[in-house]
Amino acid sequence: MRYLSTRGEASSLDFEGVLLAGLAPDGGLYLPETWPQLSPETLASLRGRPYADVAVEVMAPFVAPTIDRARLAELVQASYATFADPAVAPLRPLGADTWLLELFHGPTLAFKDVALQLLGRLFDEVLARRGARLTVVGATSGDTGSAAIEGCRGRDALDIFILHPHGRTSDVQRRQMTTVQDPNVFNIAIEGTFDDCQDMVKVLFRDAATRDALHLGAVNSINWARVLAQIVYYVTAWLSLPASDVAPTFVVPTGNFGDVFAGWCARQMGLPIASLVIATNTNDILSRTLSTGRYSMEGVSPTLSPSMDIQISSNFERALFEASRRDAARVRGWMEELGRTGSFTLDDGSWAALRDVFKAGRADDAQTLATIAQTWTSQGVLLDPHTAVGVYVAEHTQHAPGSQVVVLSTAHAAKFPDAVRQATGQHPPLPAHLADLFEREERYVVLPADVGVLREYLFKHARAITEAR
Ligand SMILES: *Cc1c(COP(=O)(O)O)cnc(C)c1O
Repeated sequence: MRYLSTRGEASSLDFEGVLLAGLAPDGGLYLPETWPQLSPETLASLRGRPYADVAVEVMAPFVAPTIDRARLAELVQASYATFADPAVAPLRPLGADTWLLELFHGPTLAFKDVALQLLGRLFDEVLARRGARLTVVGATSGDTGSAAIEGCRGRDALDIFILHPHGRTSDVQRRQMTTVQDPNVFNIAIEGTFDDCQDMVKVLFRDAATRDALHLGAVNSINWARVLAQIVYYVTAWLSLPASDVAPTFVVPTGNFGDVFAGWCARQMGLPIASLVIATNTNDILSRTLSTGRYSMEGVSPTLSPSMDIQISSNFERALFEASRRDAARVRGWMEELGRTGSFTLDDGSWAALRDVFKAGRADDAQTLATIAQTWTSQGVLLDPHTAVGVYVAEHTQHAPGSQVVVLSTAHAAKFPDAVRQATGQHPPLPAHLADLFEREERYVVLPADVGVLREYLFKHARAITEAR
């Protein structure tokens, strides 16, 4: 498979190329040249098969020829053996005609593990062949950092450095990162805010000499391999639903648009999906875009669902490219205008194409808490605040009679105990593999918000420098 940039000014690459590049050199995001199809016969043959088998069937055409089927099967097996539930992403009923797709059974209790467990192994695979080492550097306010660390820990070809704002993450989130003892994991508490951390990382990536010397790599959600891994659970969810003749609706708690775009890809590959509902908190740039045809940035306000507190939804560019019938010049124009003025307006055709598949809804913090409380009282199920946004939006969206609605459950309630306690008075217990999290030894350094100091630290510890091979 070859991959194209949404901005049309970068040359096409194979899977190995897009895996290592992340963002395209023209600023665009990569998409496959064509969409492989899942025929009704193939889908029928996958019914009842383990998650890993479905994953190989879905992903094989996208990773060829970089990775063959047999090797892909091994990497997939290893990635999902780390999940606490043998089904990996089990589907649980939540009242009549509604299901929760539980994506939080991985090592760090959020859906990002599904992609990052595989991404770490894919990196290791292609780098080992090249005899190269990559230095992964990222900033986190919580979820992504721990999932990236779990995906990269102990991998010979990778070192990972994650910056978090000192004293400003929750205890659970910090400990999920800082109690990992592998020597290739470096946690750095920055004396500053999350924005300071993110700015420092951006400065490093923009400095070509540093980028090349350290062989910097990114694991953020614009990497195509992350979207790819997320297509799989739409397929396994569809296979587990009772009625195969009714195309289901998926409701997806959304921030950067990676997860819901994976649903679009599944539909494009032939999976019967009626619609994809984008569920946002009050940072609702996407619902506003669908209802007005205008994409317009506003400030970010903090909510109880922090992993969806975004100002700009990076992966939305992929949907724009497809909605405009792959008109890269038009996408370039929109992105240029967005950078210059903070907004752009869709043409009627692209806007209609988006509304044909996507719907959107939002929930504020009060509605989120009420949904957590109500679901606990009526069903005995504790929802995390991100999933609760999805459940609220599912309940307030018009569905055709007889439809099957699947809400993606993106995090375990124990990851956000404060909101859950506020809503229900319950303290959700951590699952067995993390039960001793608060007894584990922490390991991190504290550095000032100074890029020079950070660069020195990286050059001293990254094996890309110290043990070039
Ligand atoms: C990252 C995250 C989201 C948002 O996913 P996107 O792919 O960025 O849209 C939703 N819920 C949780 C718990 C997350 O960690």
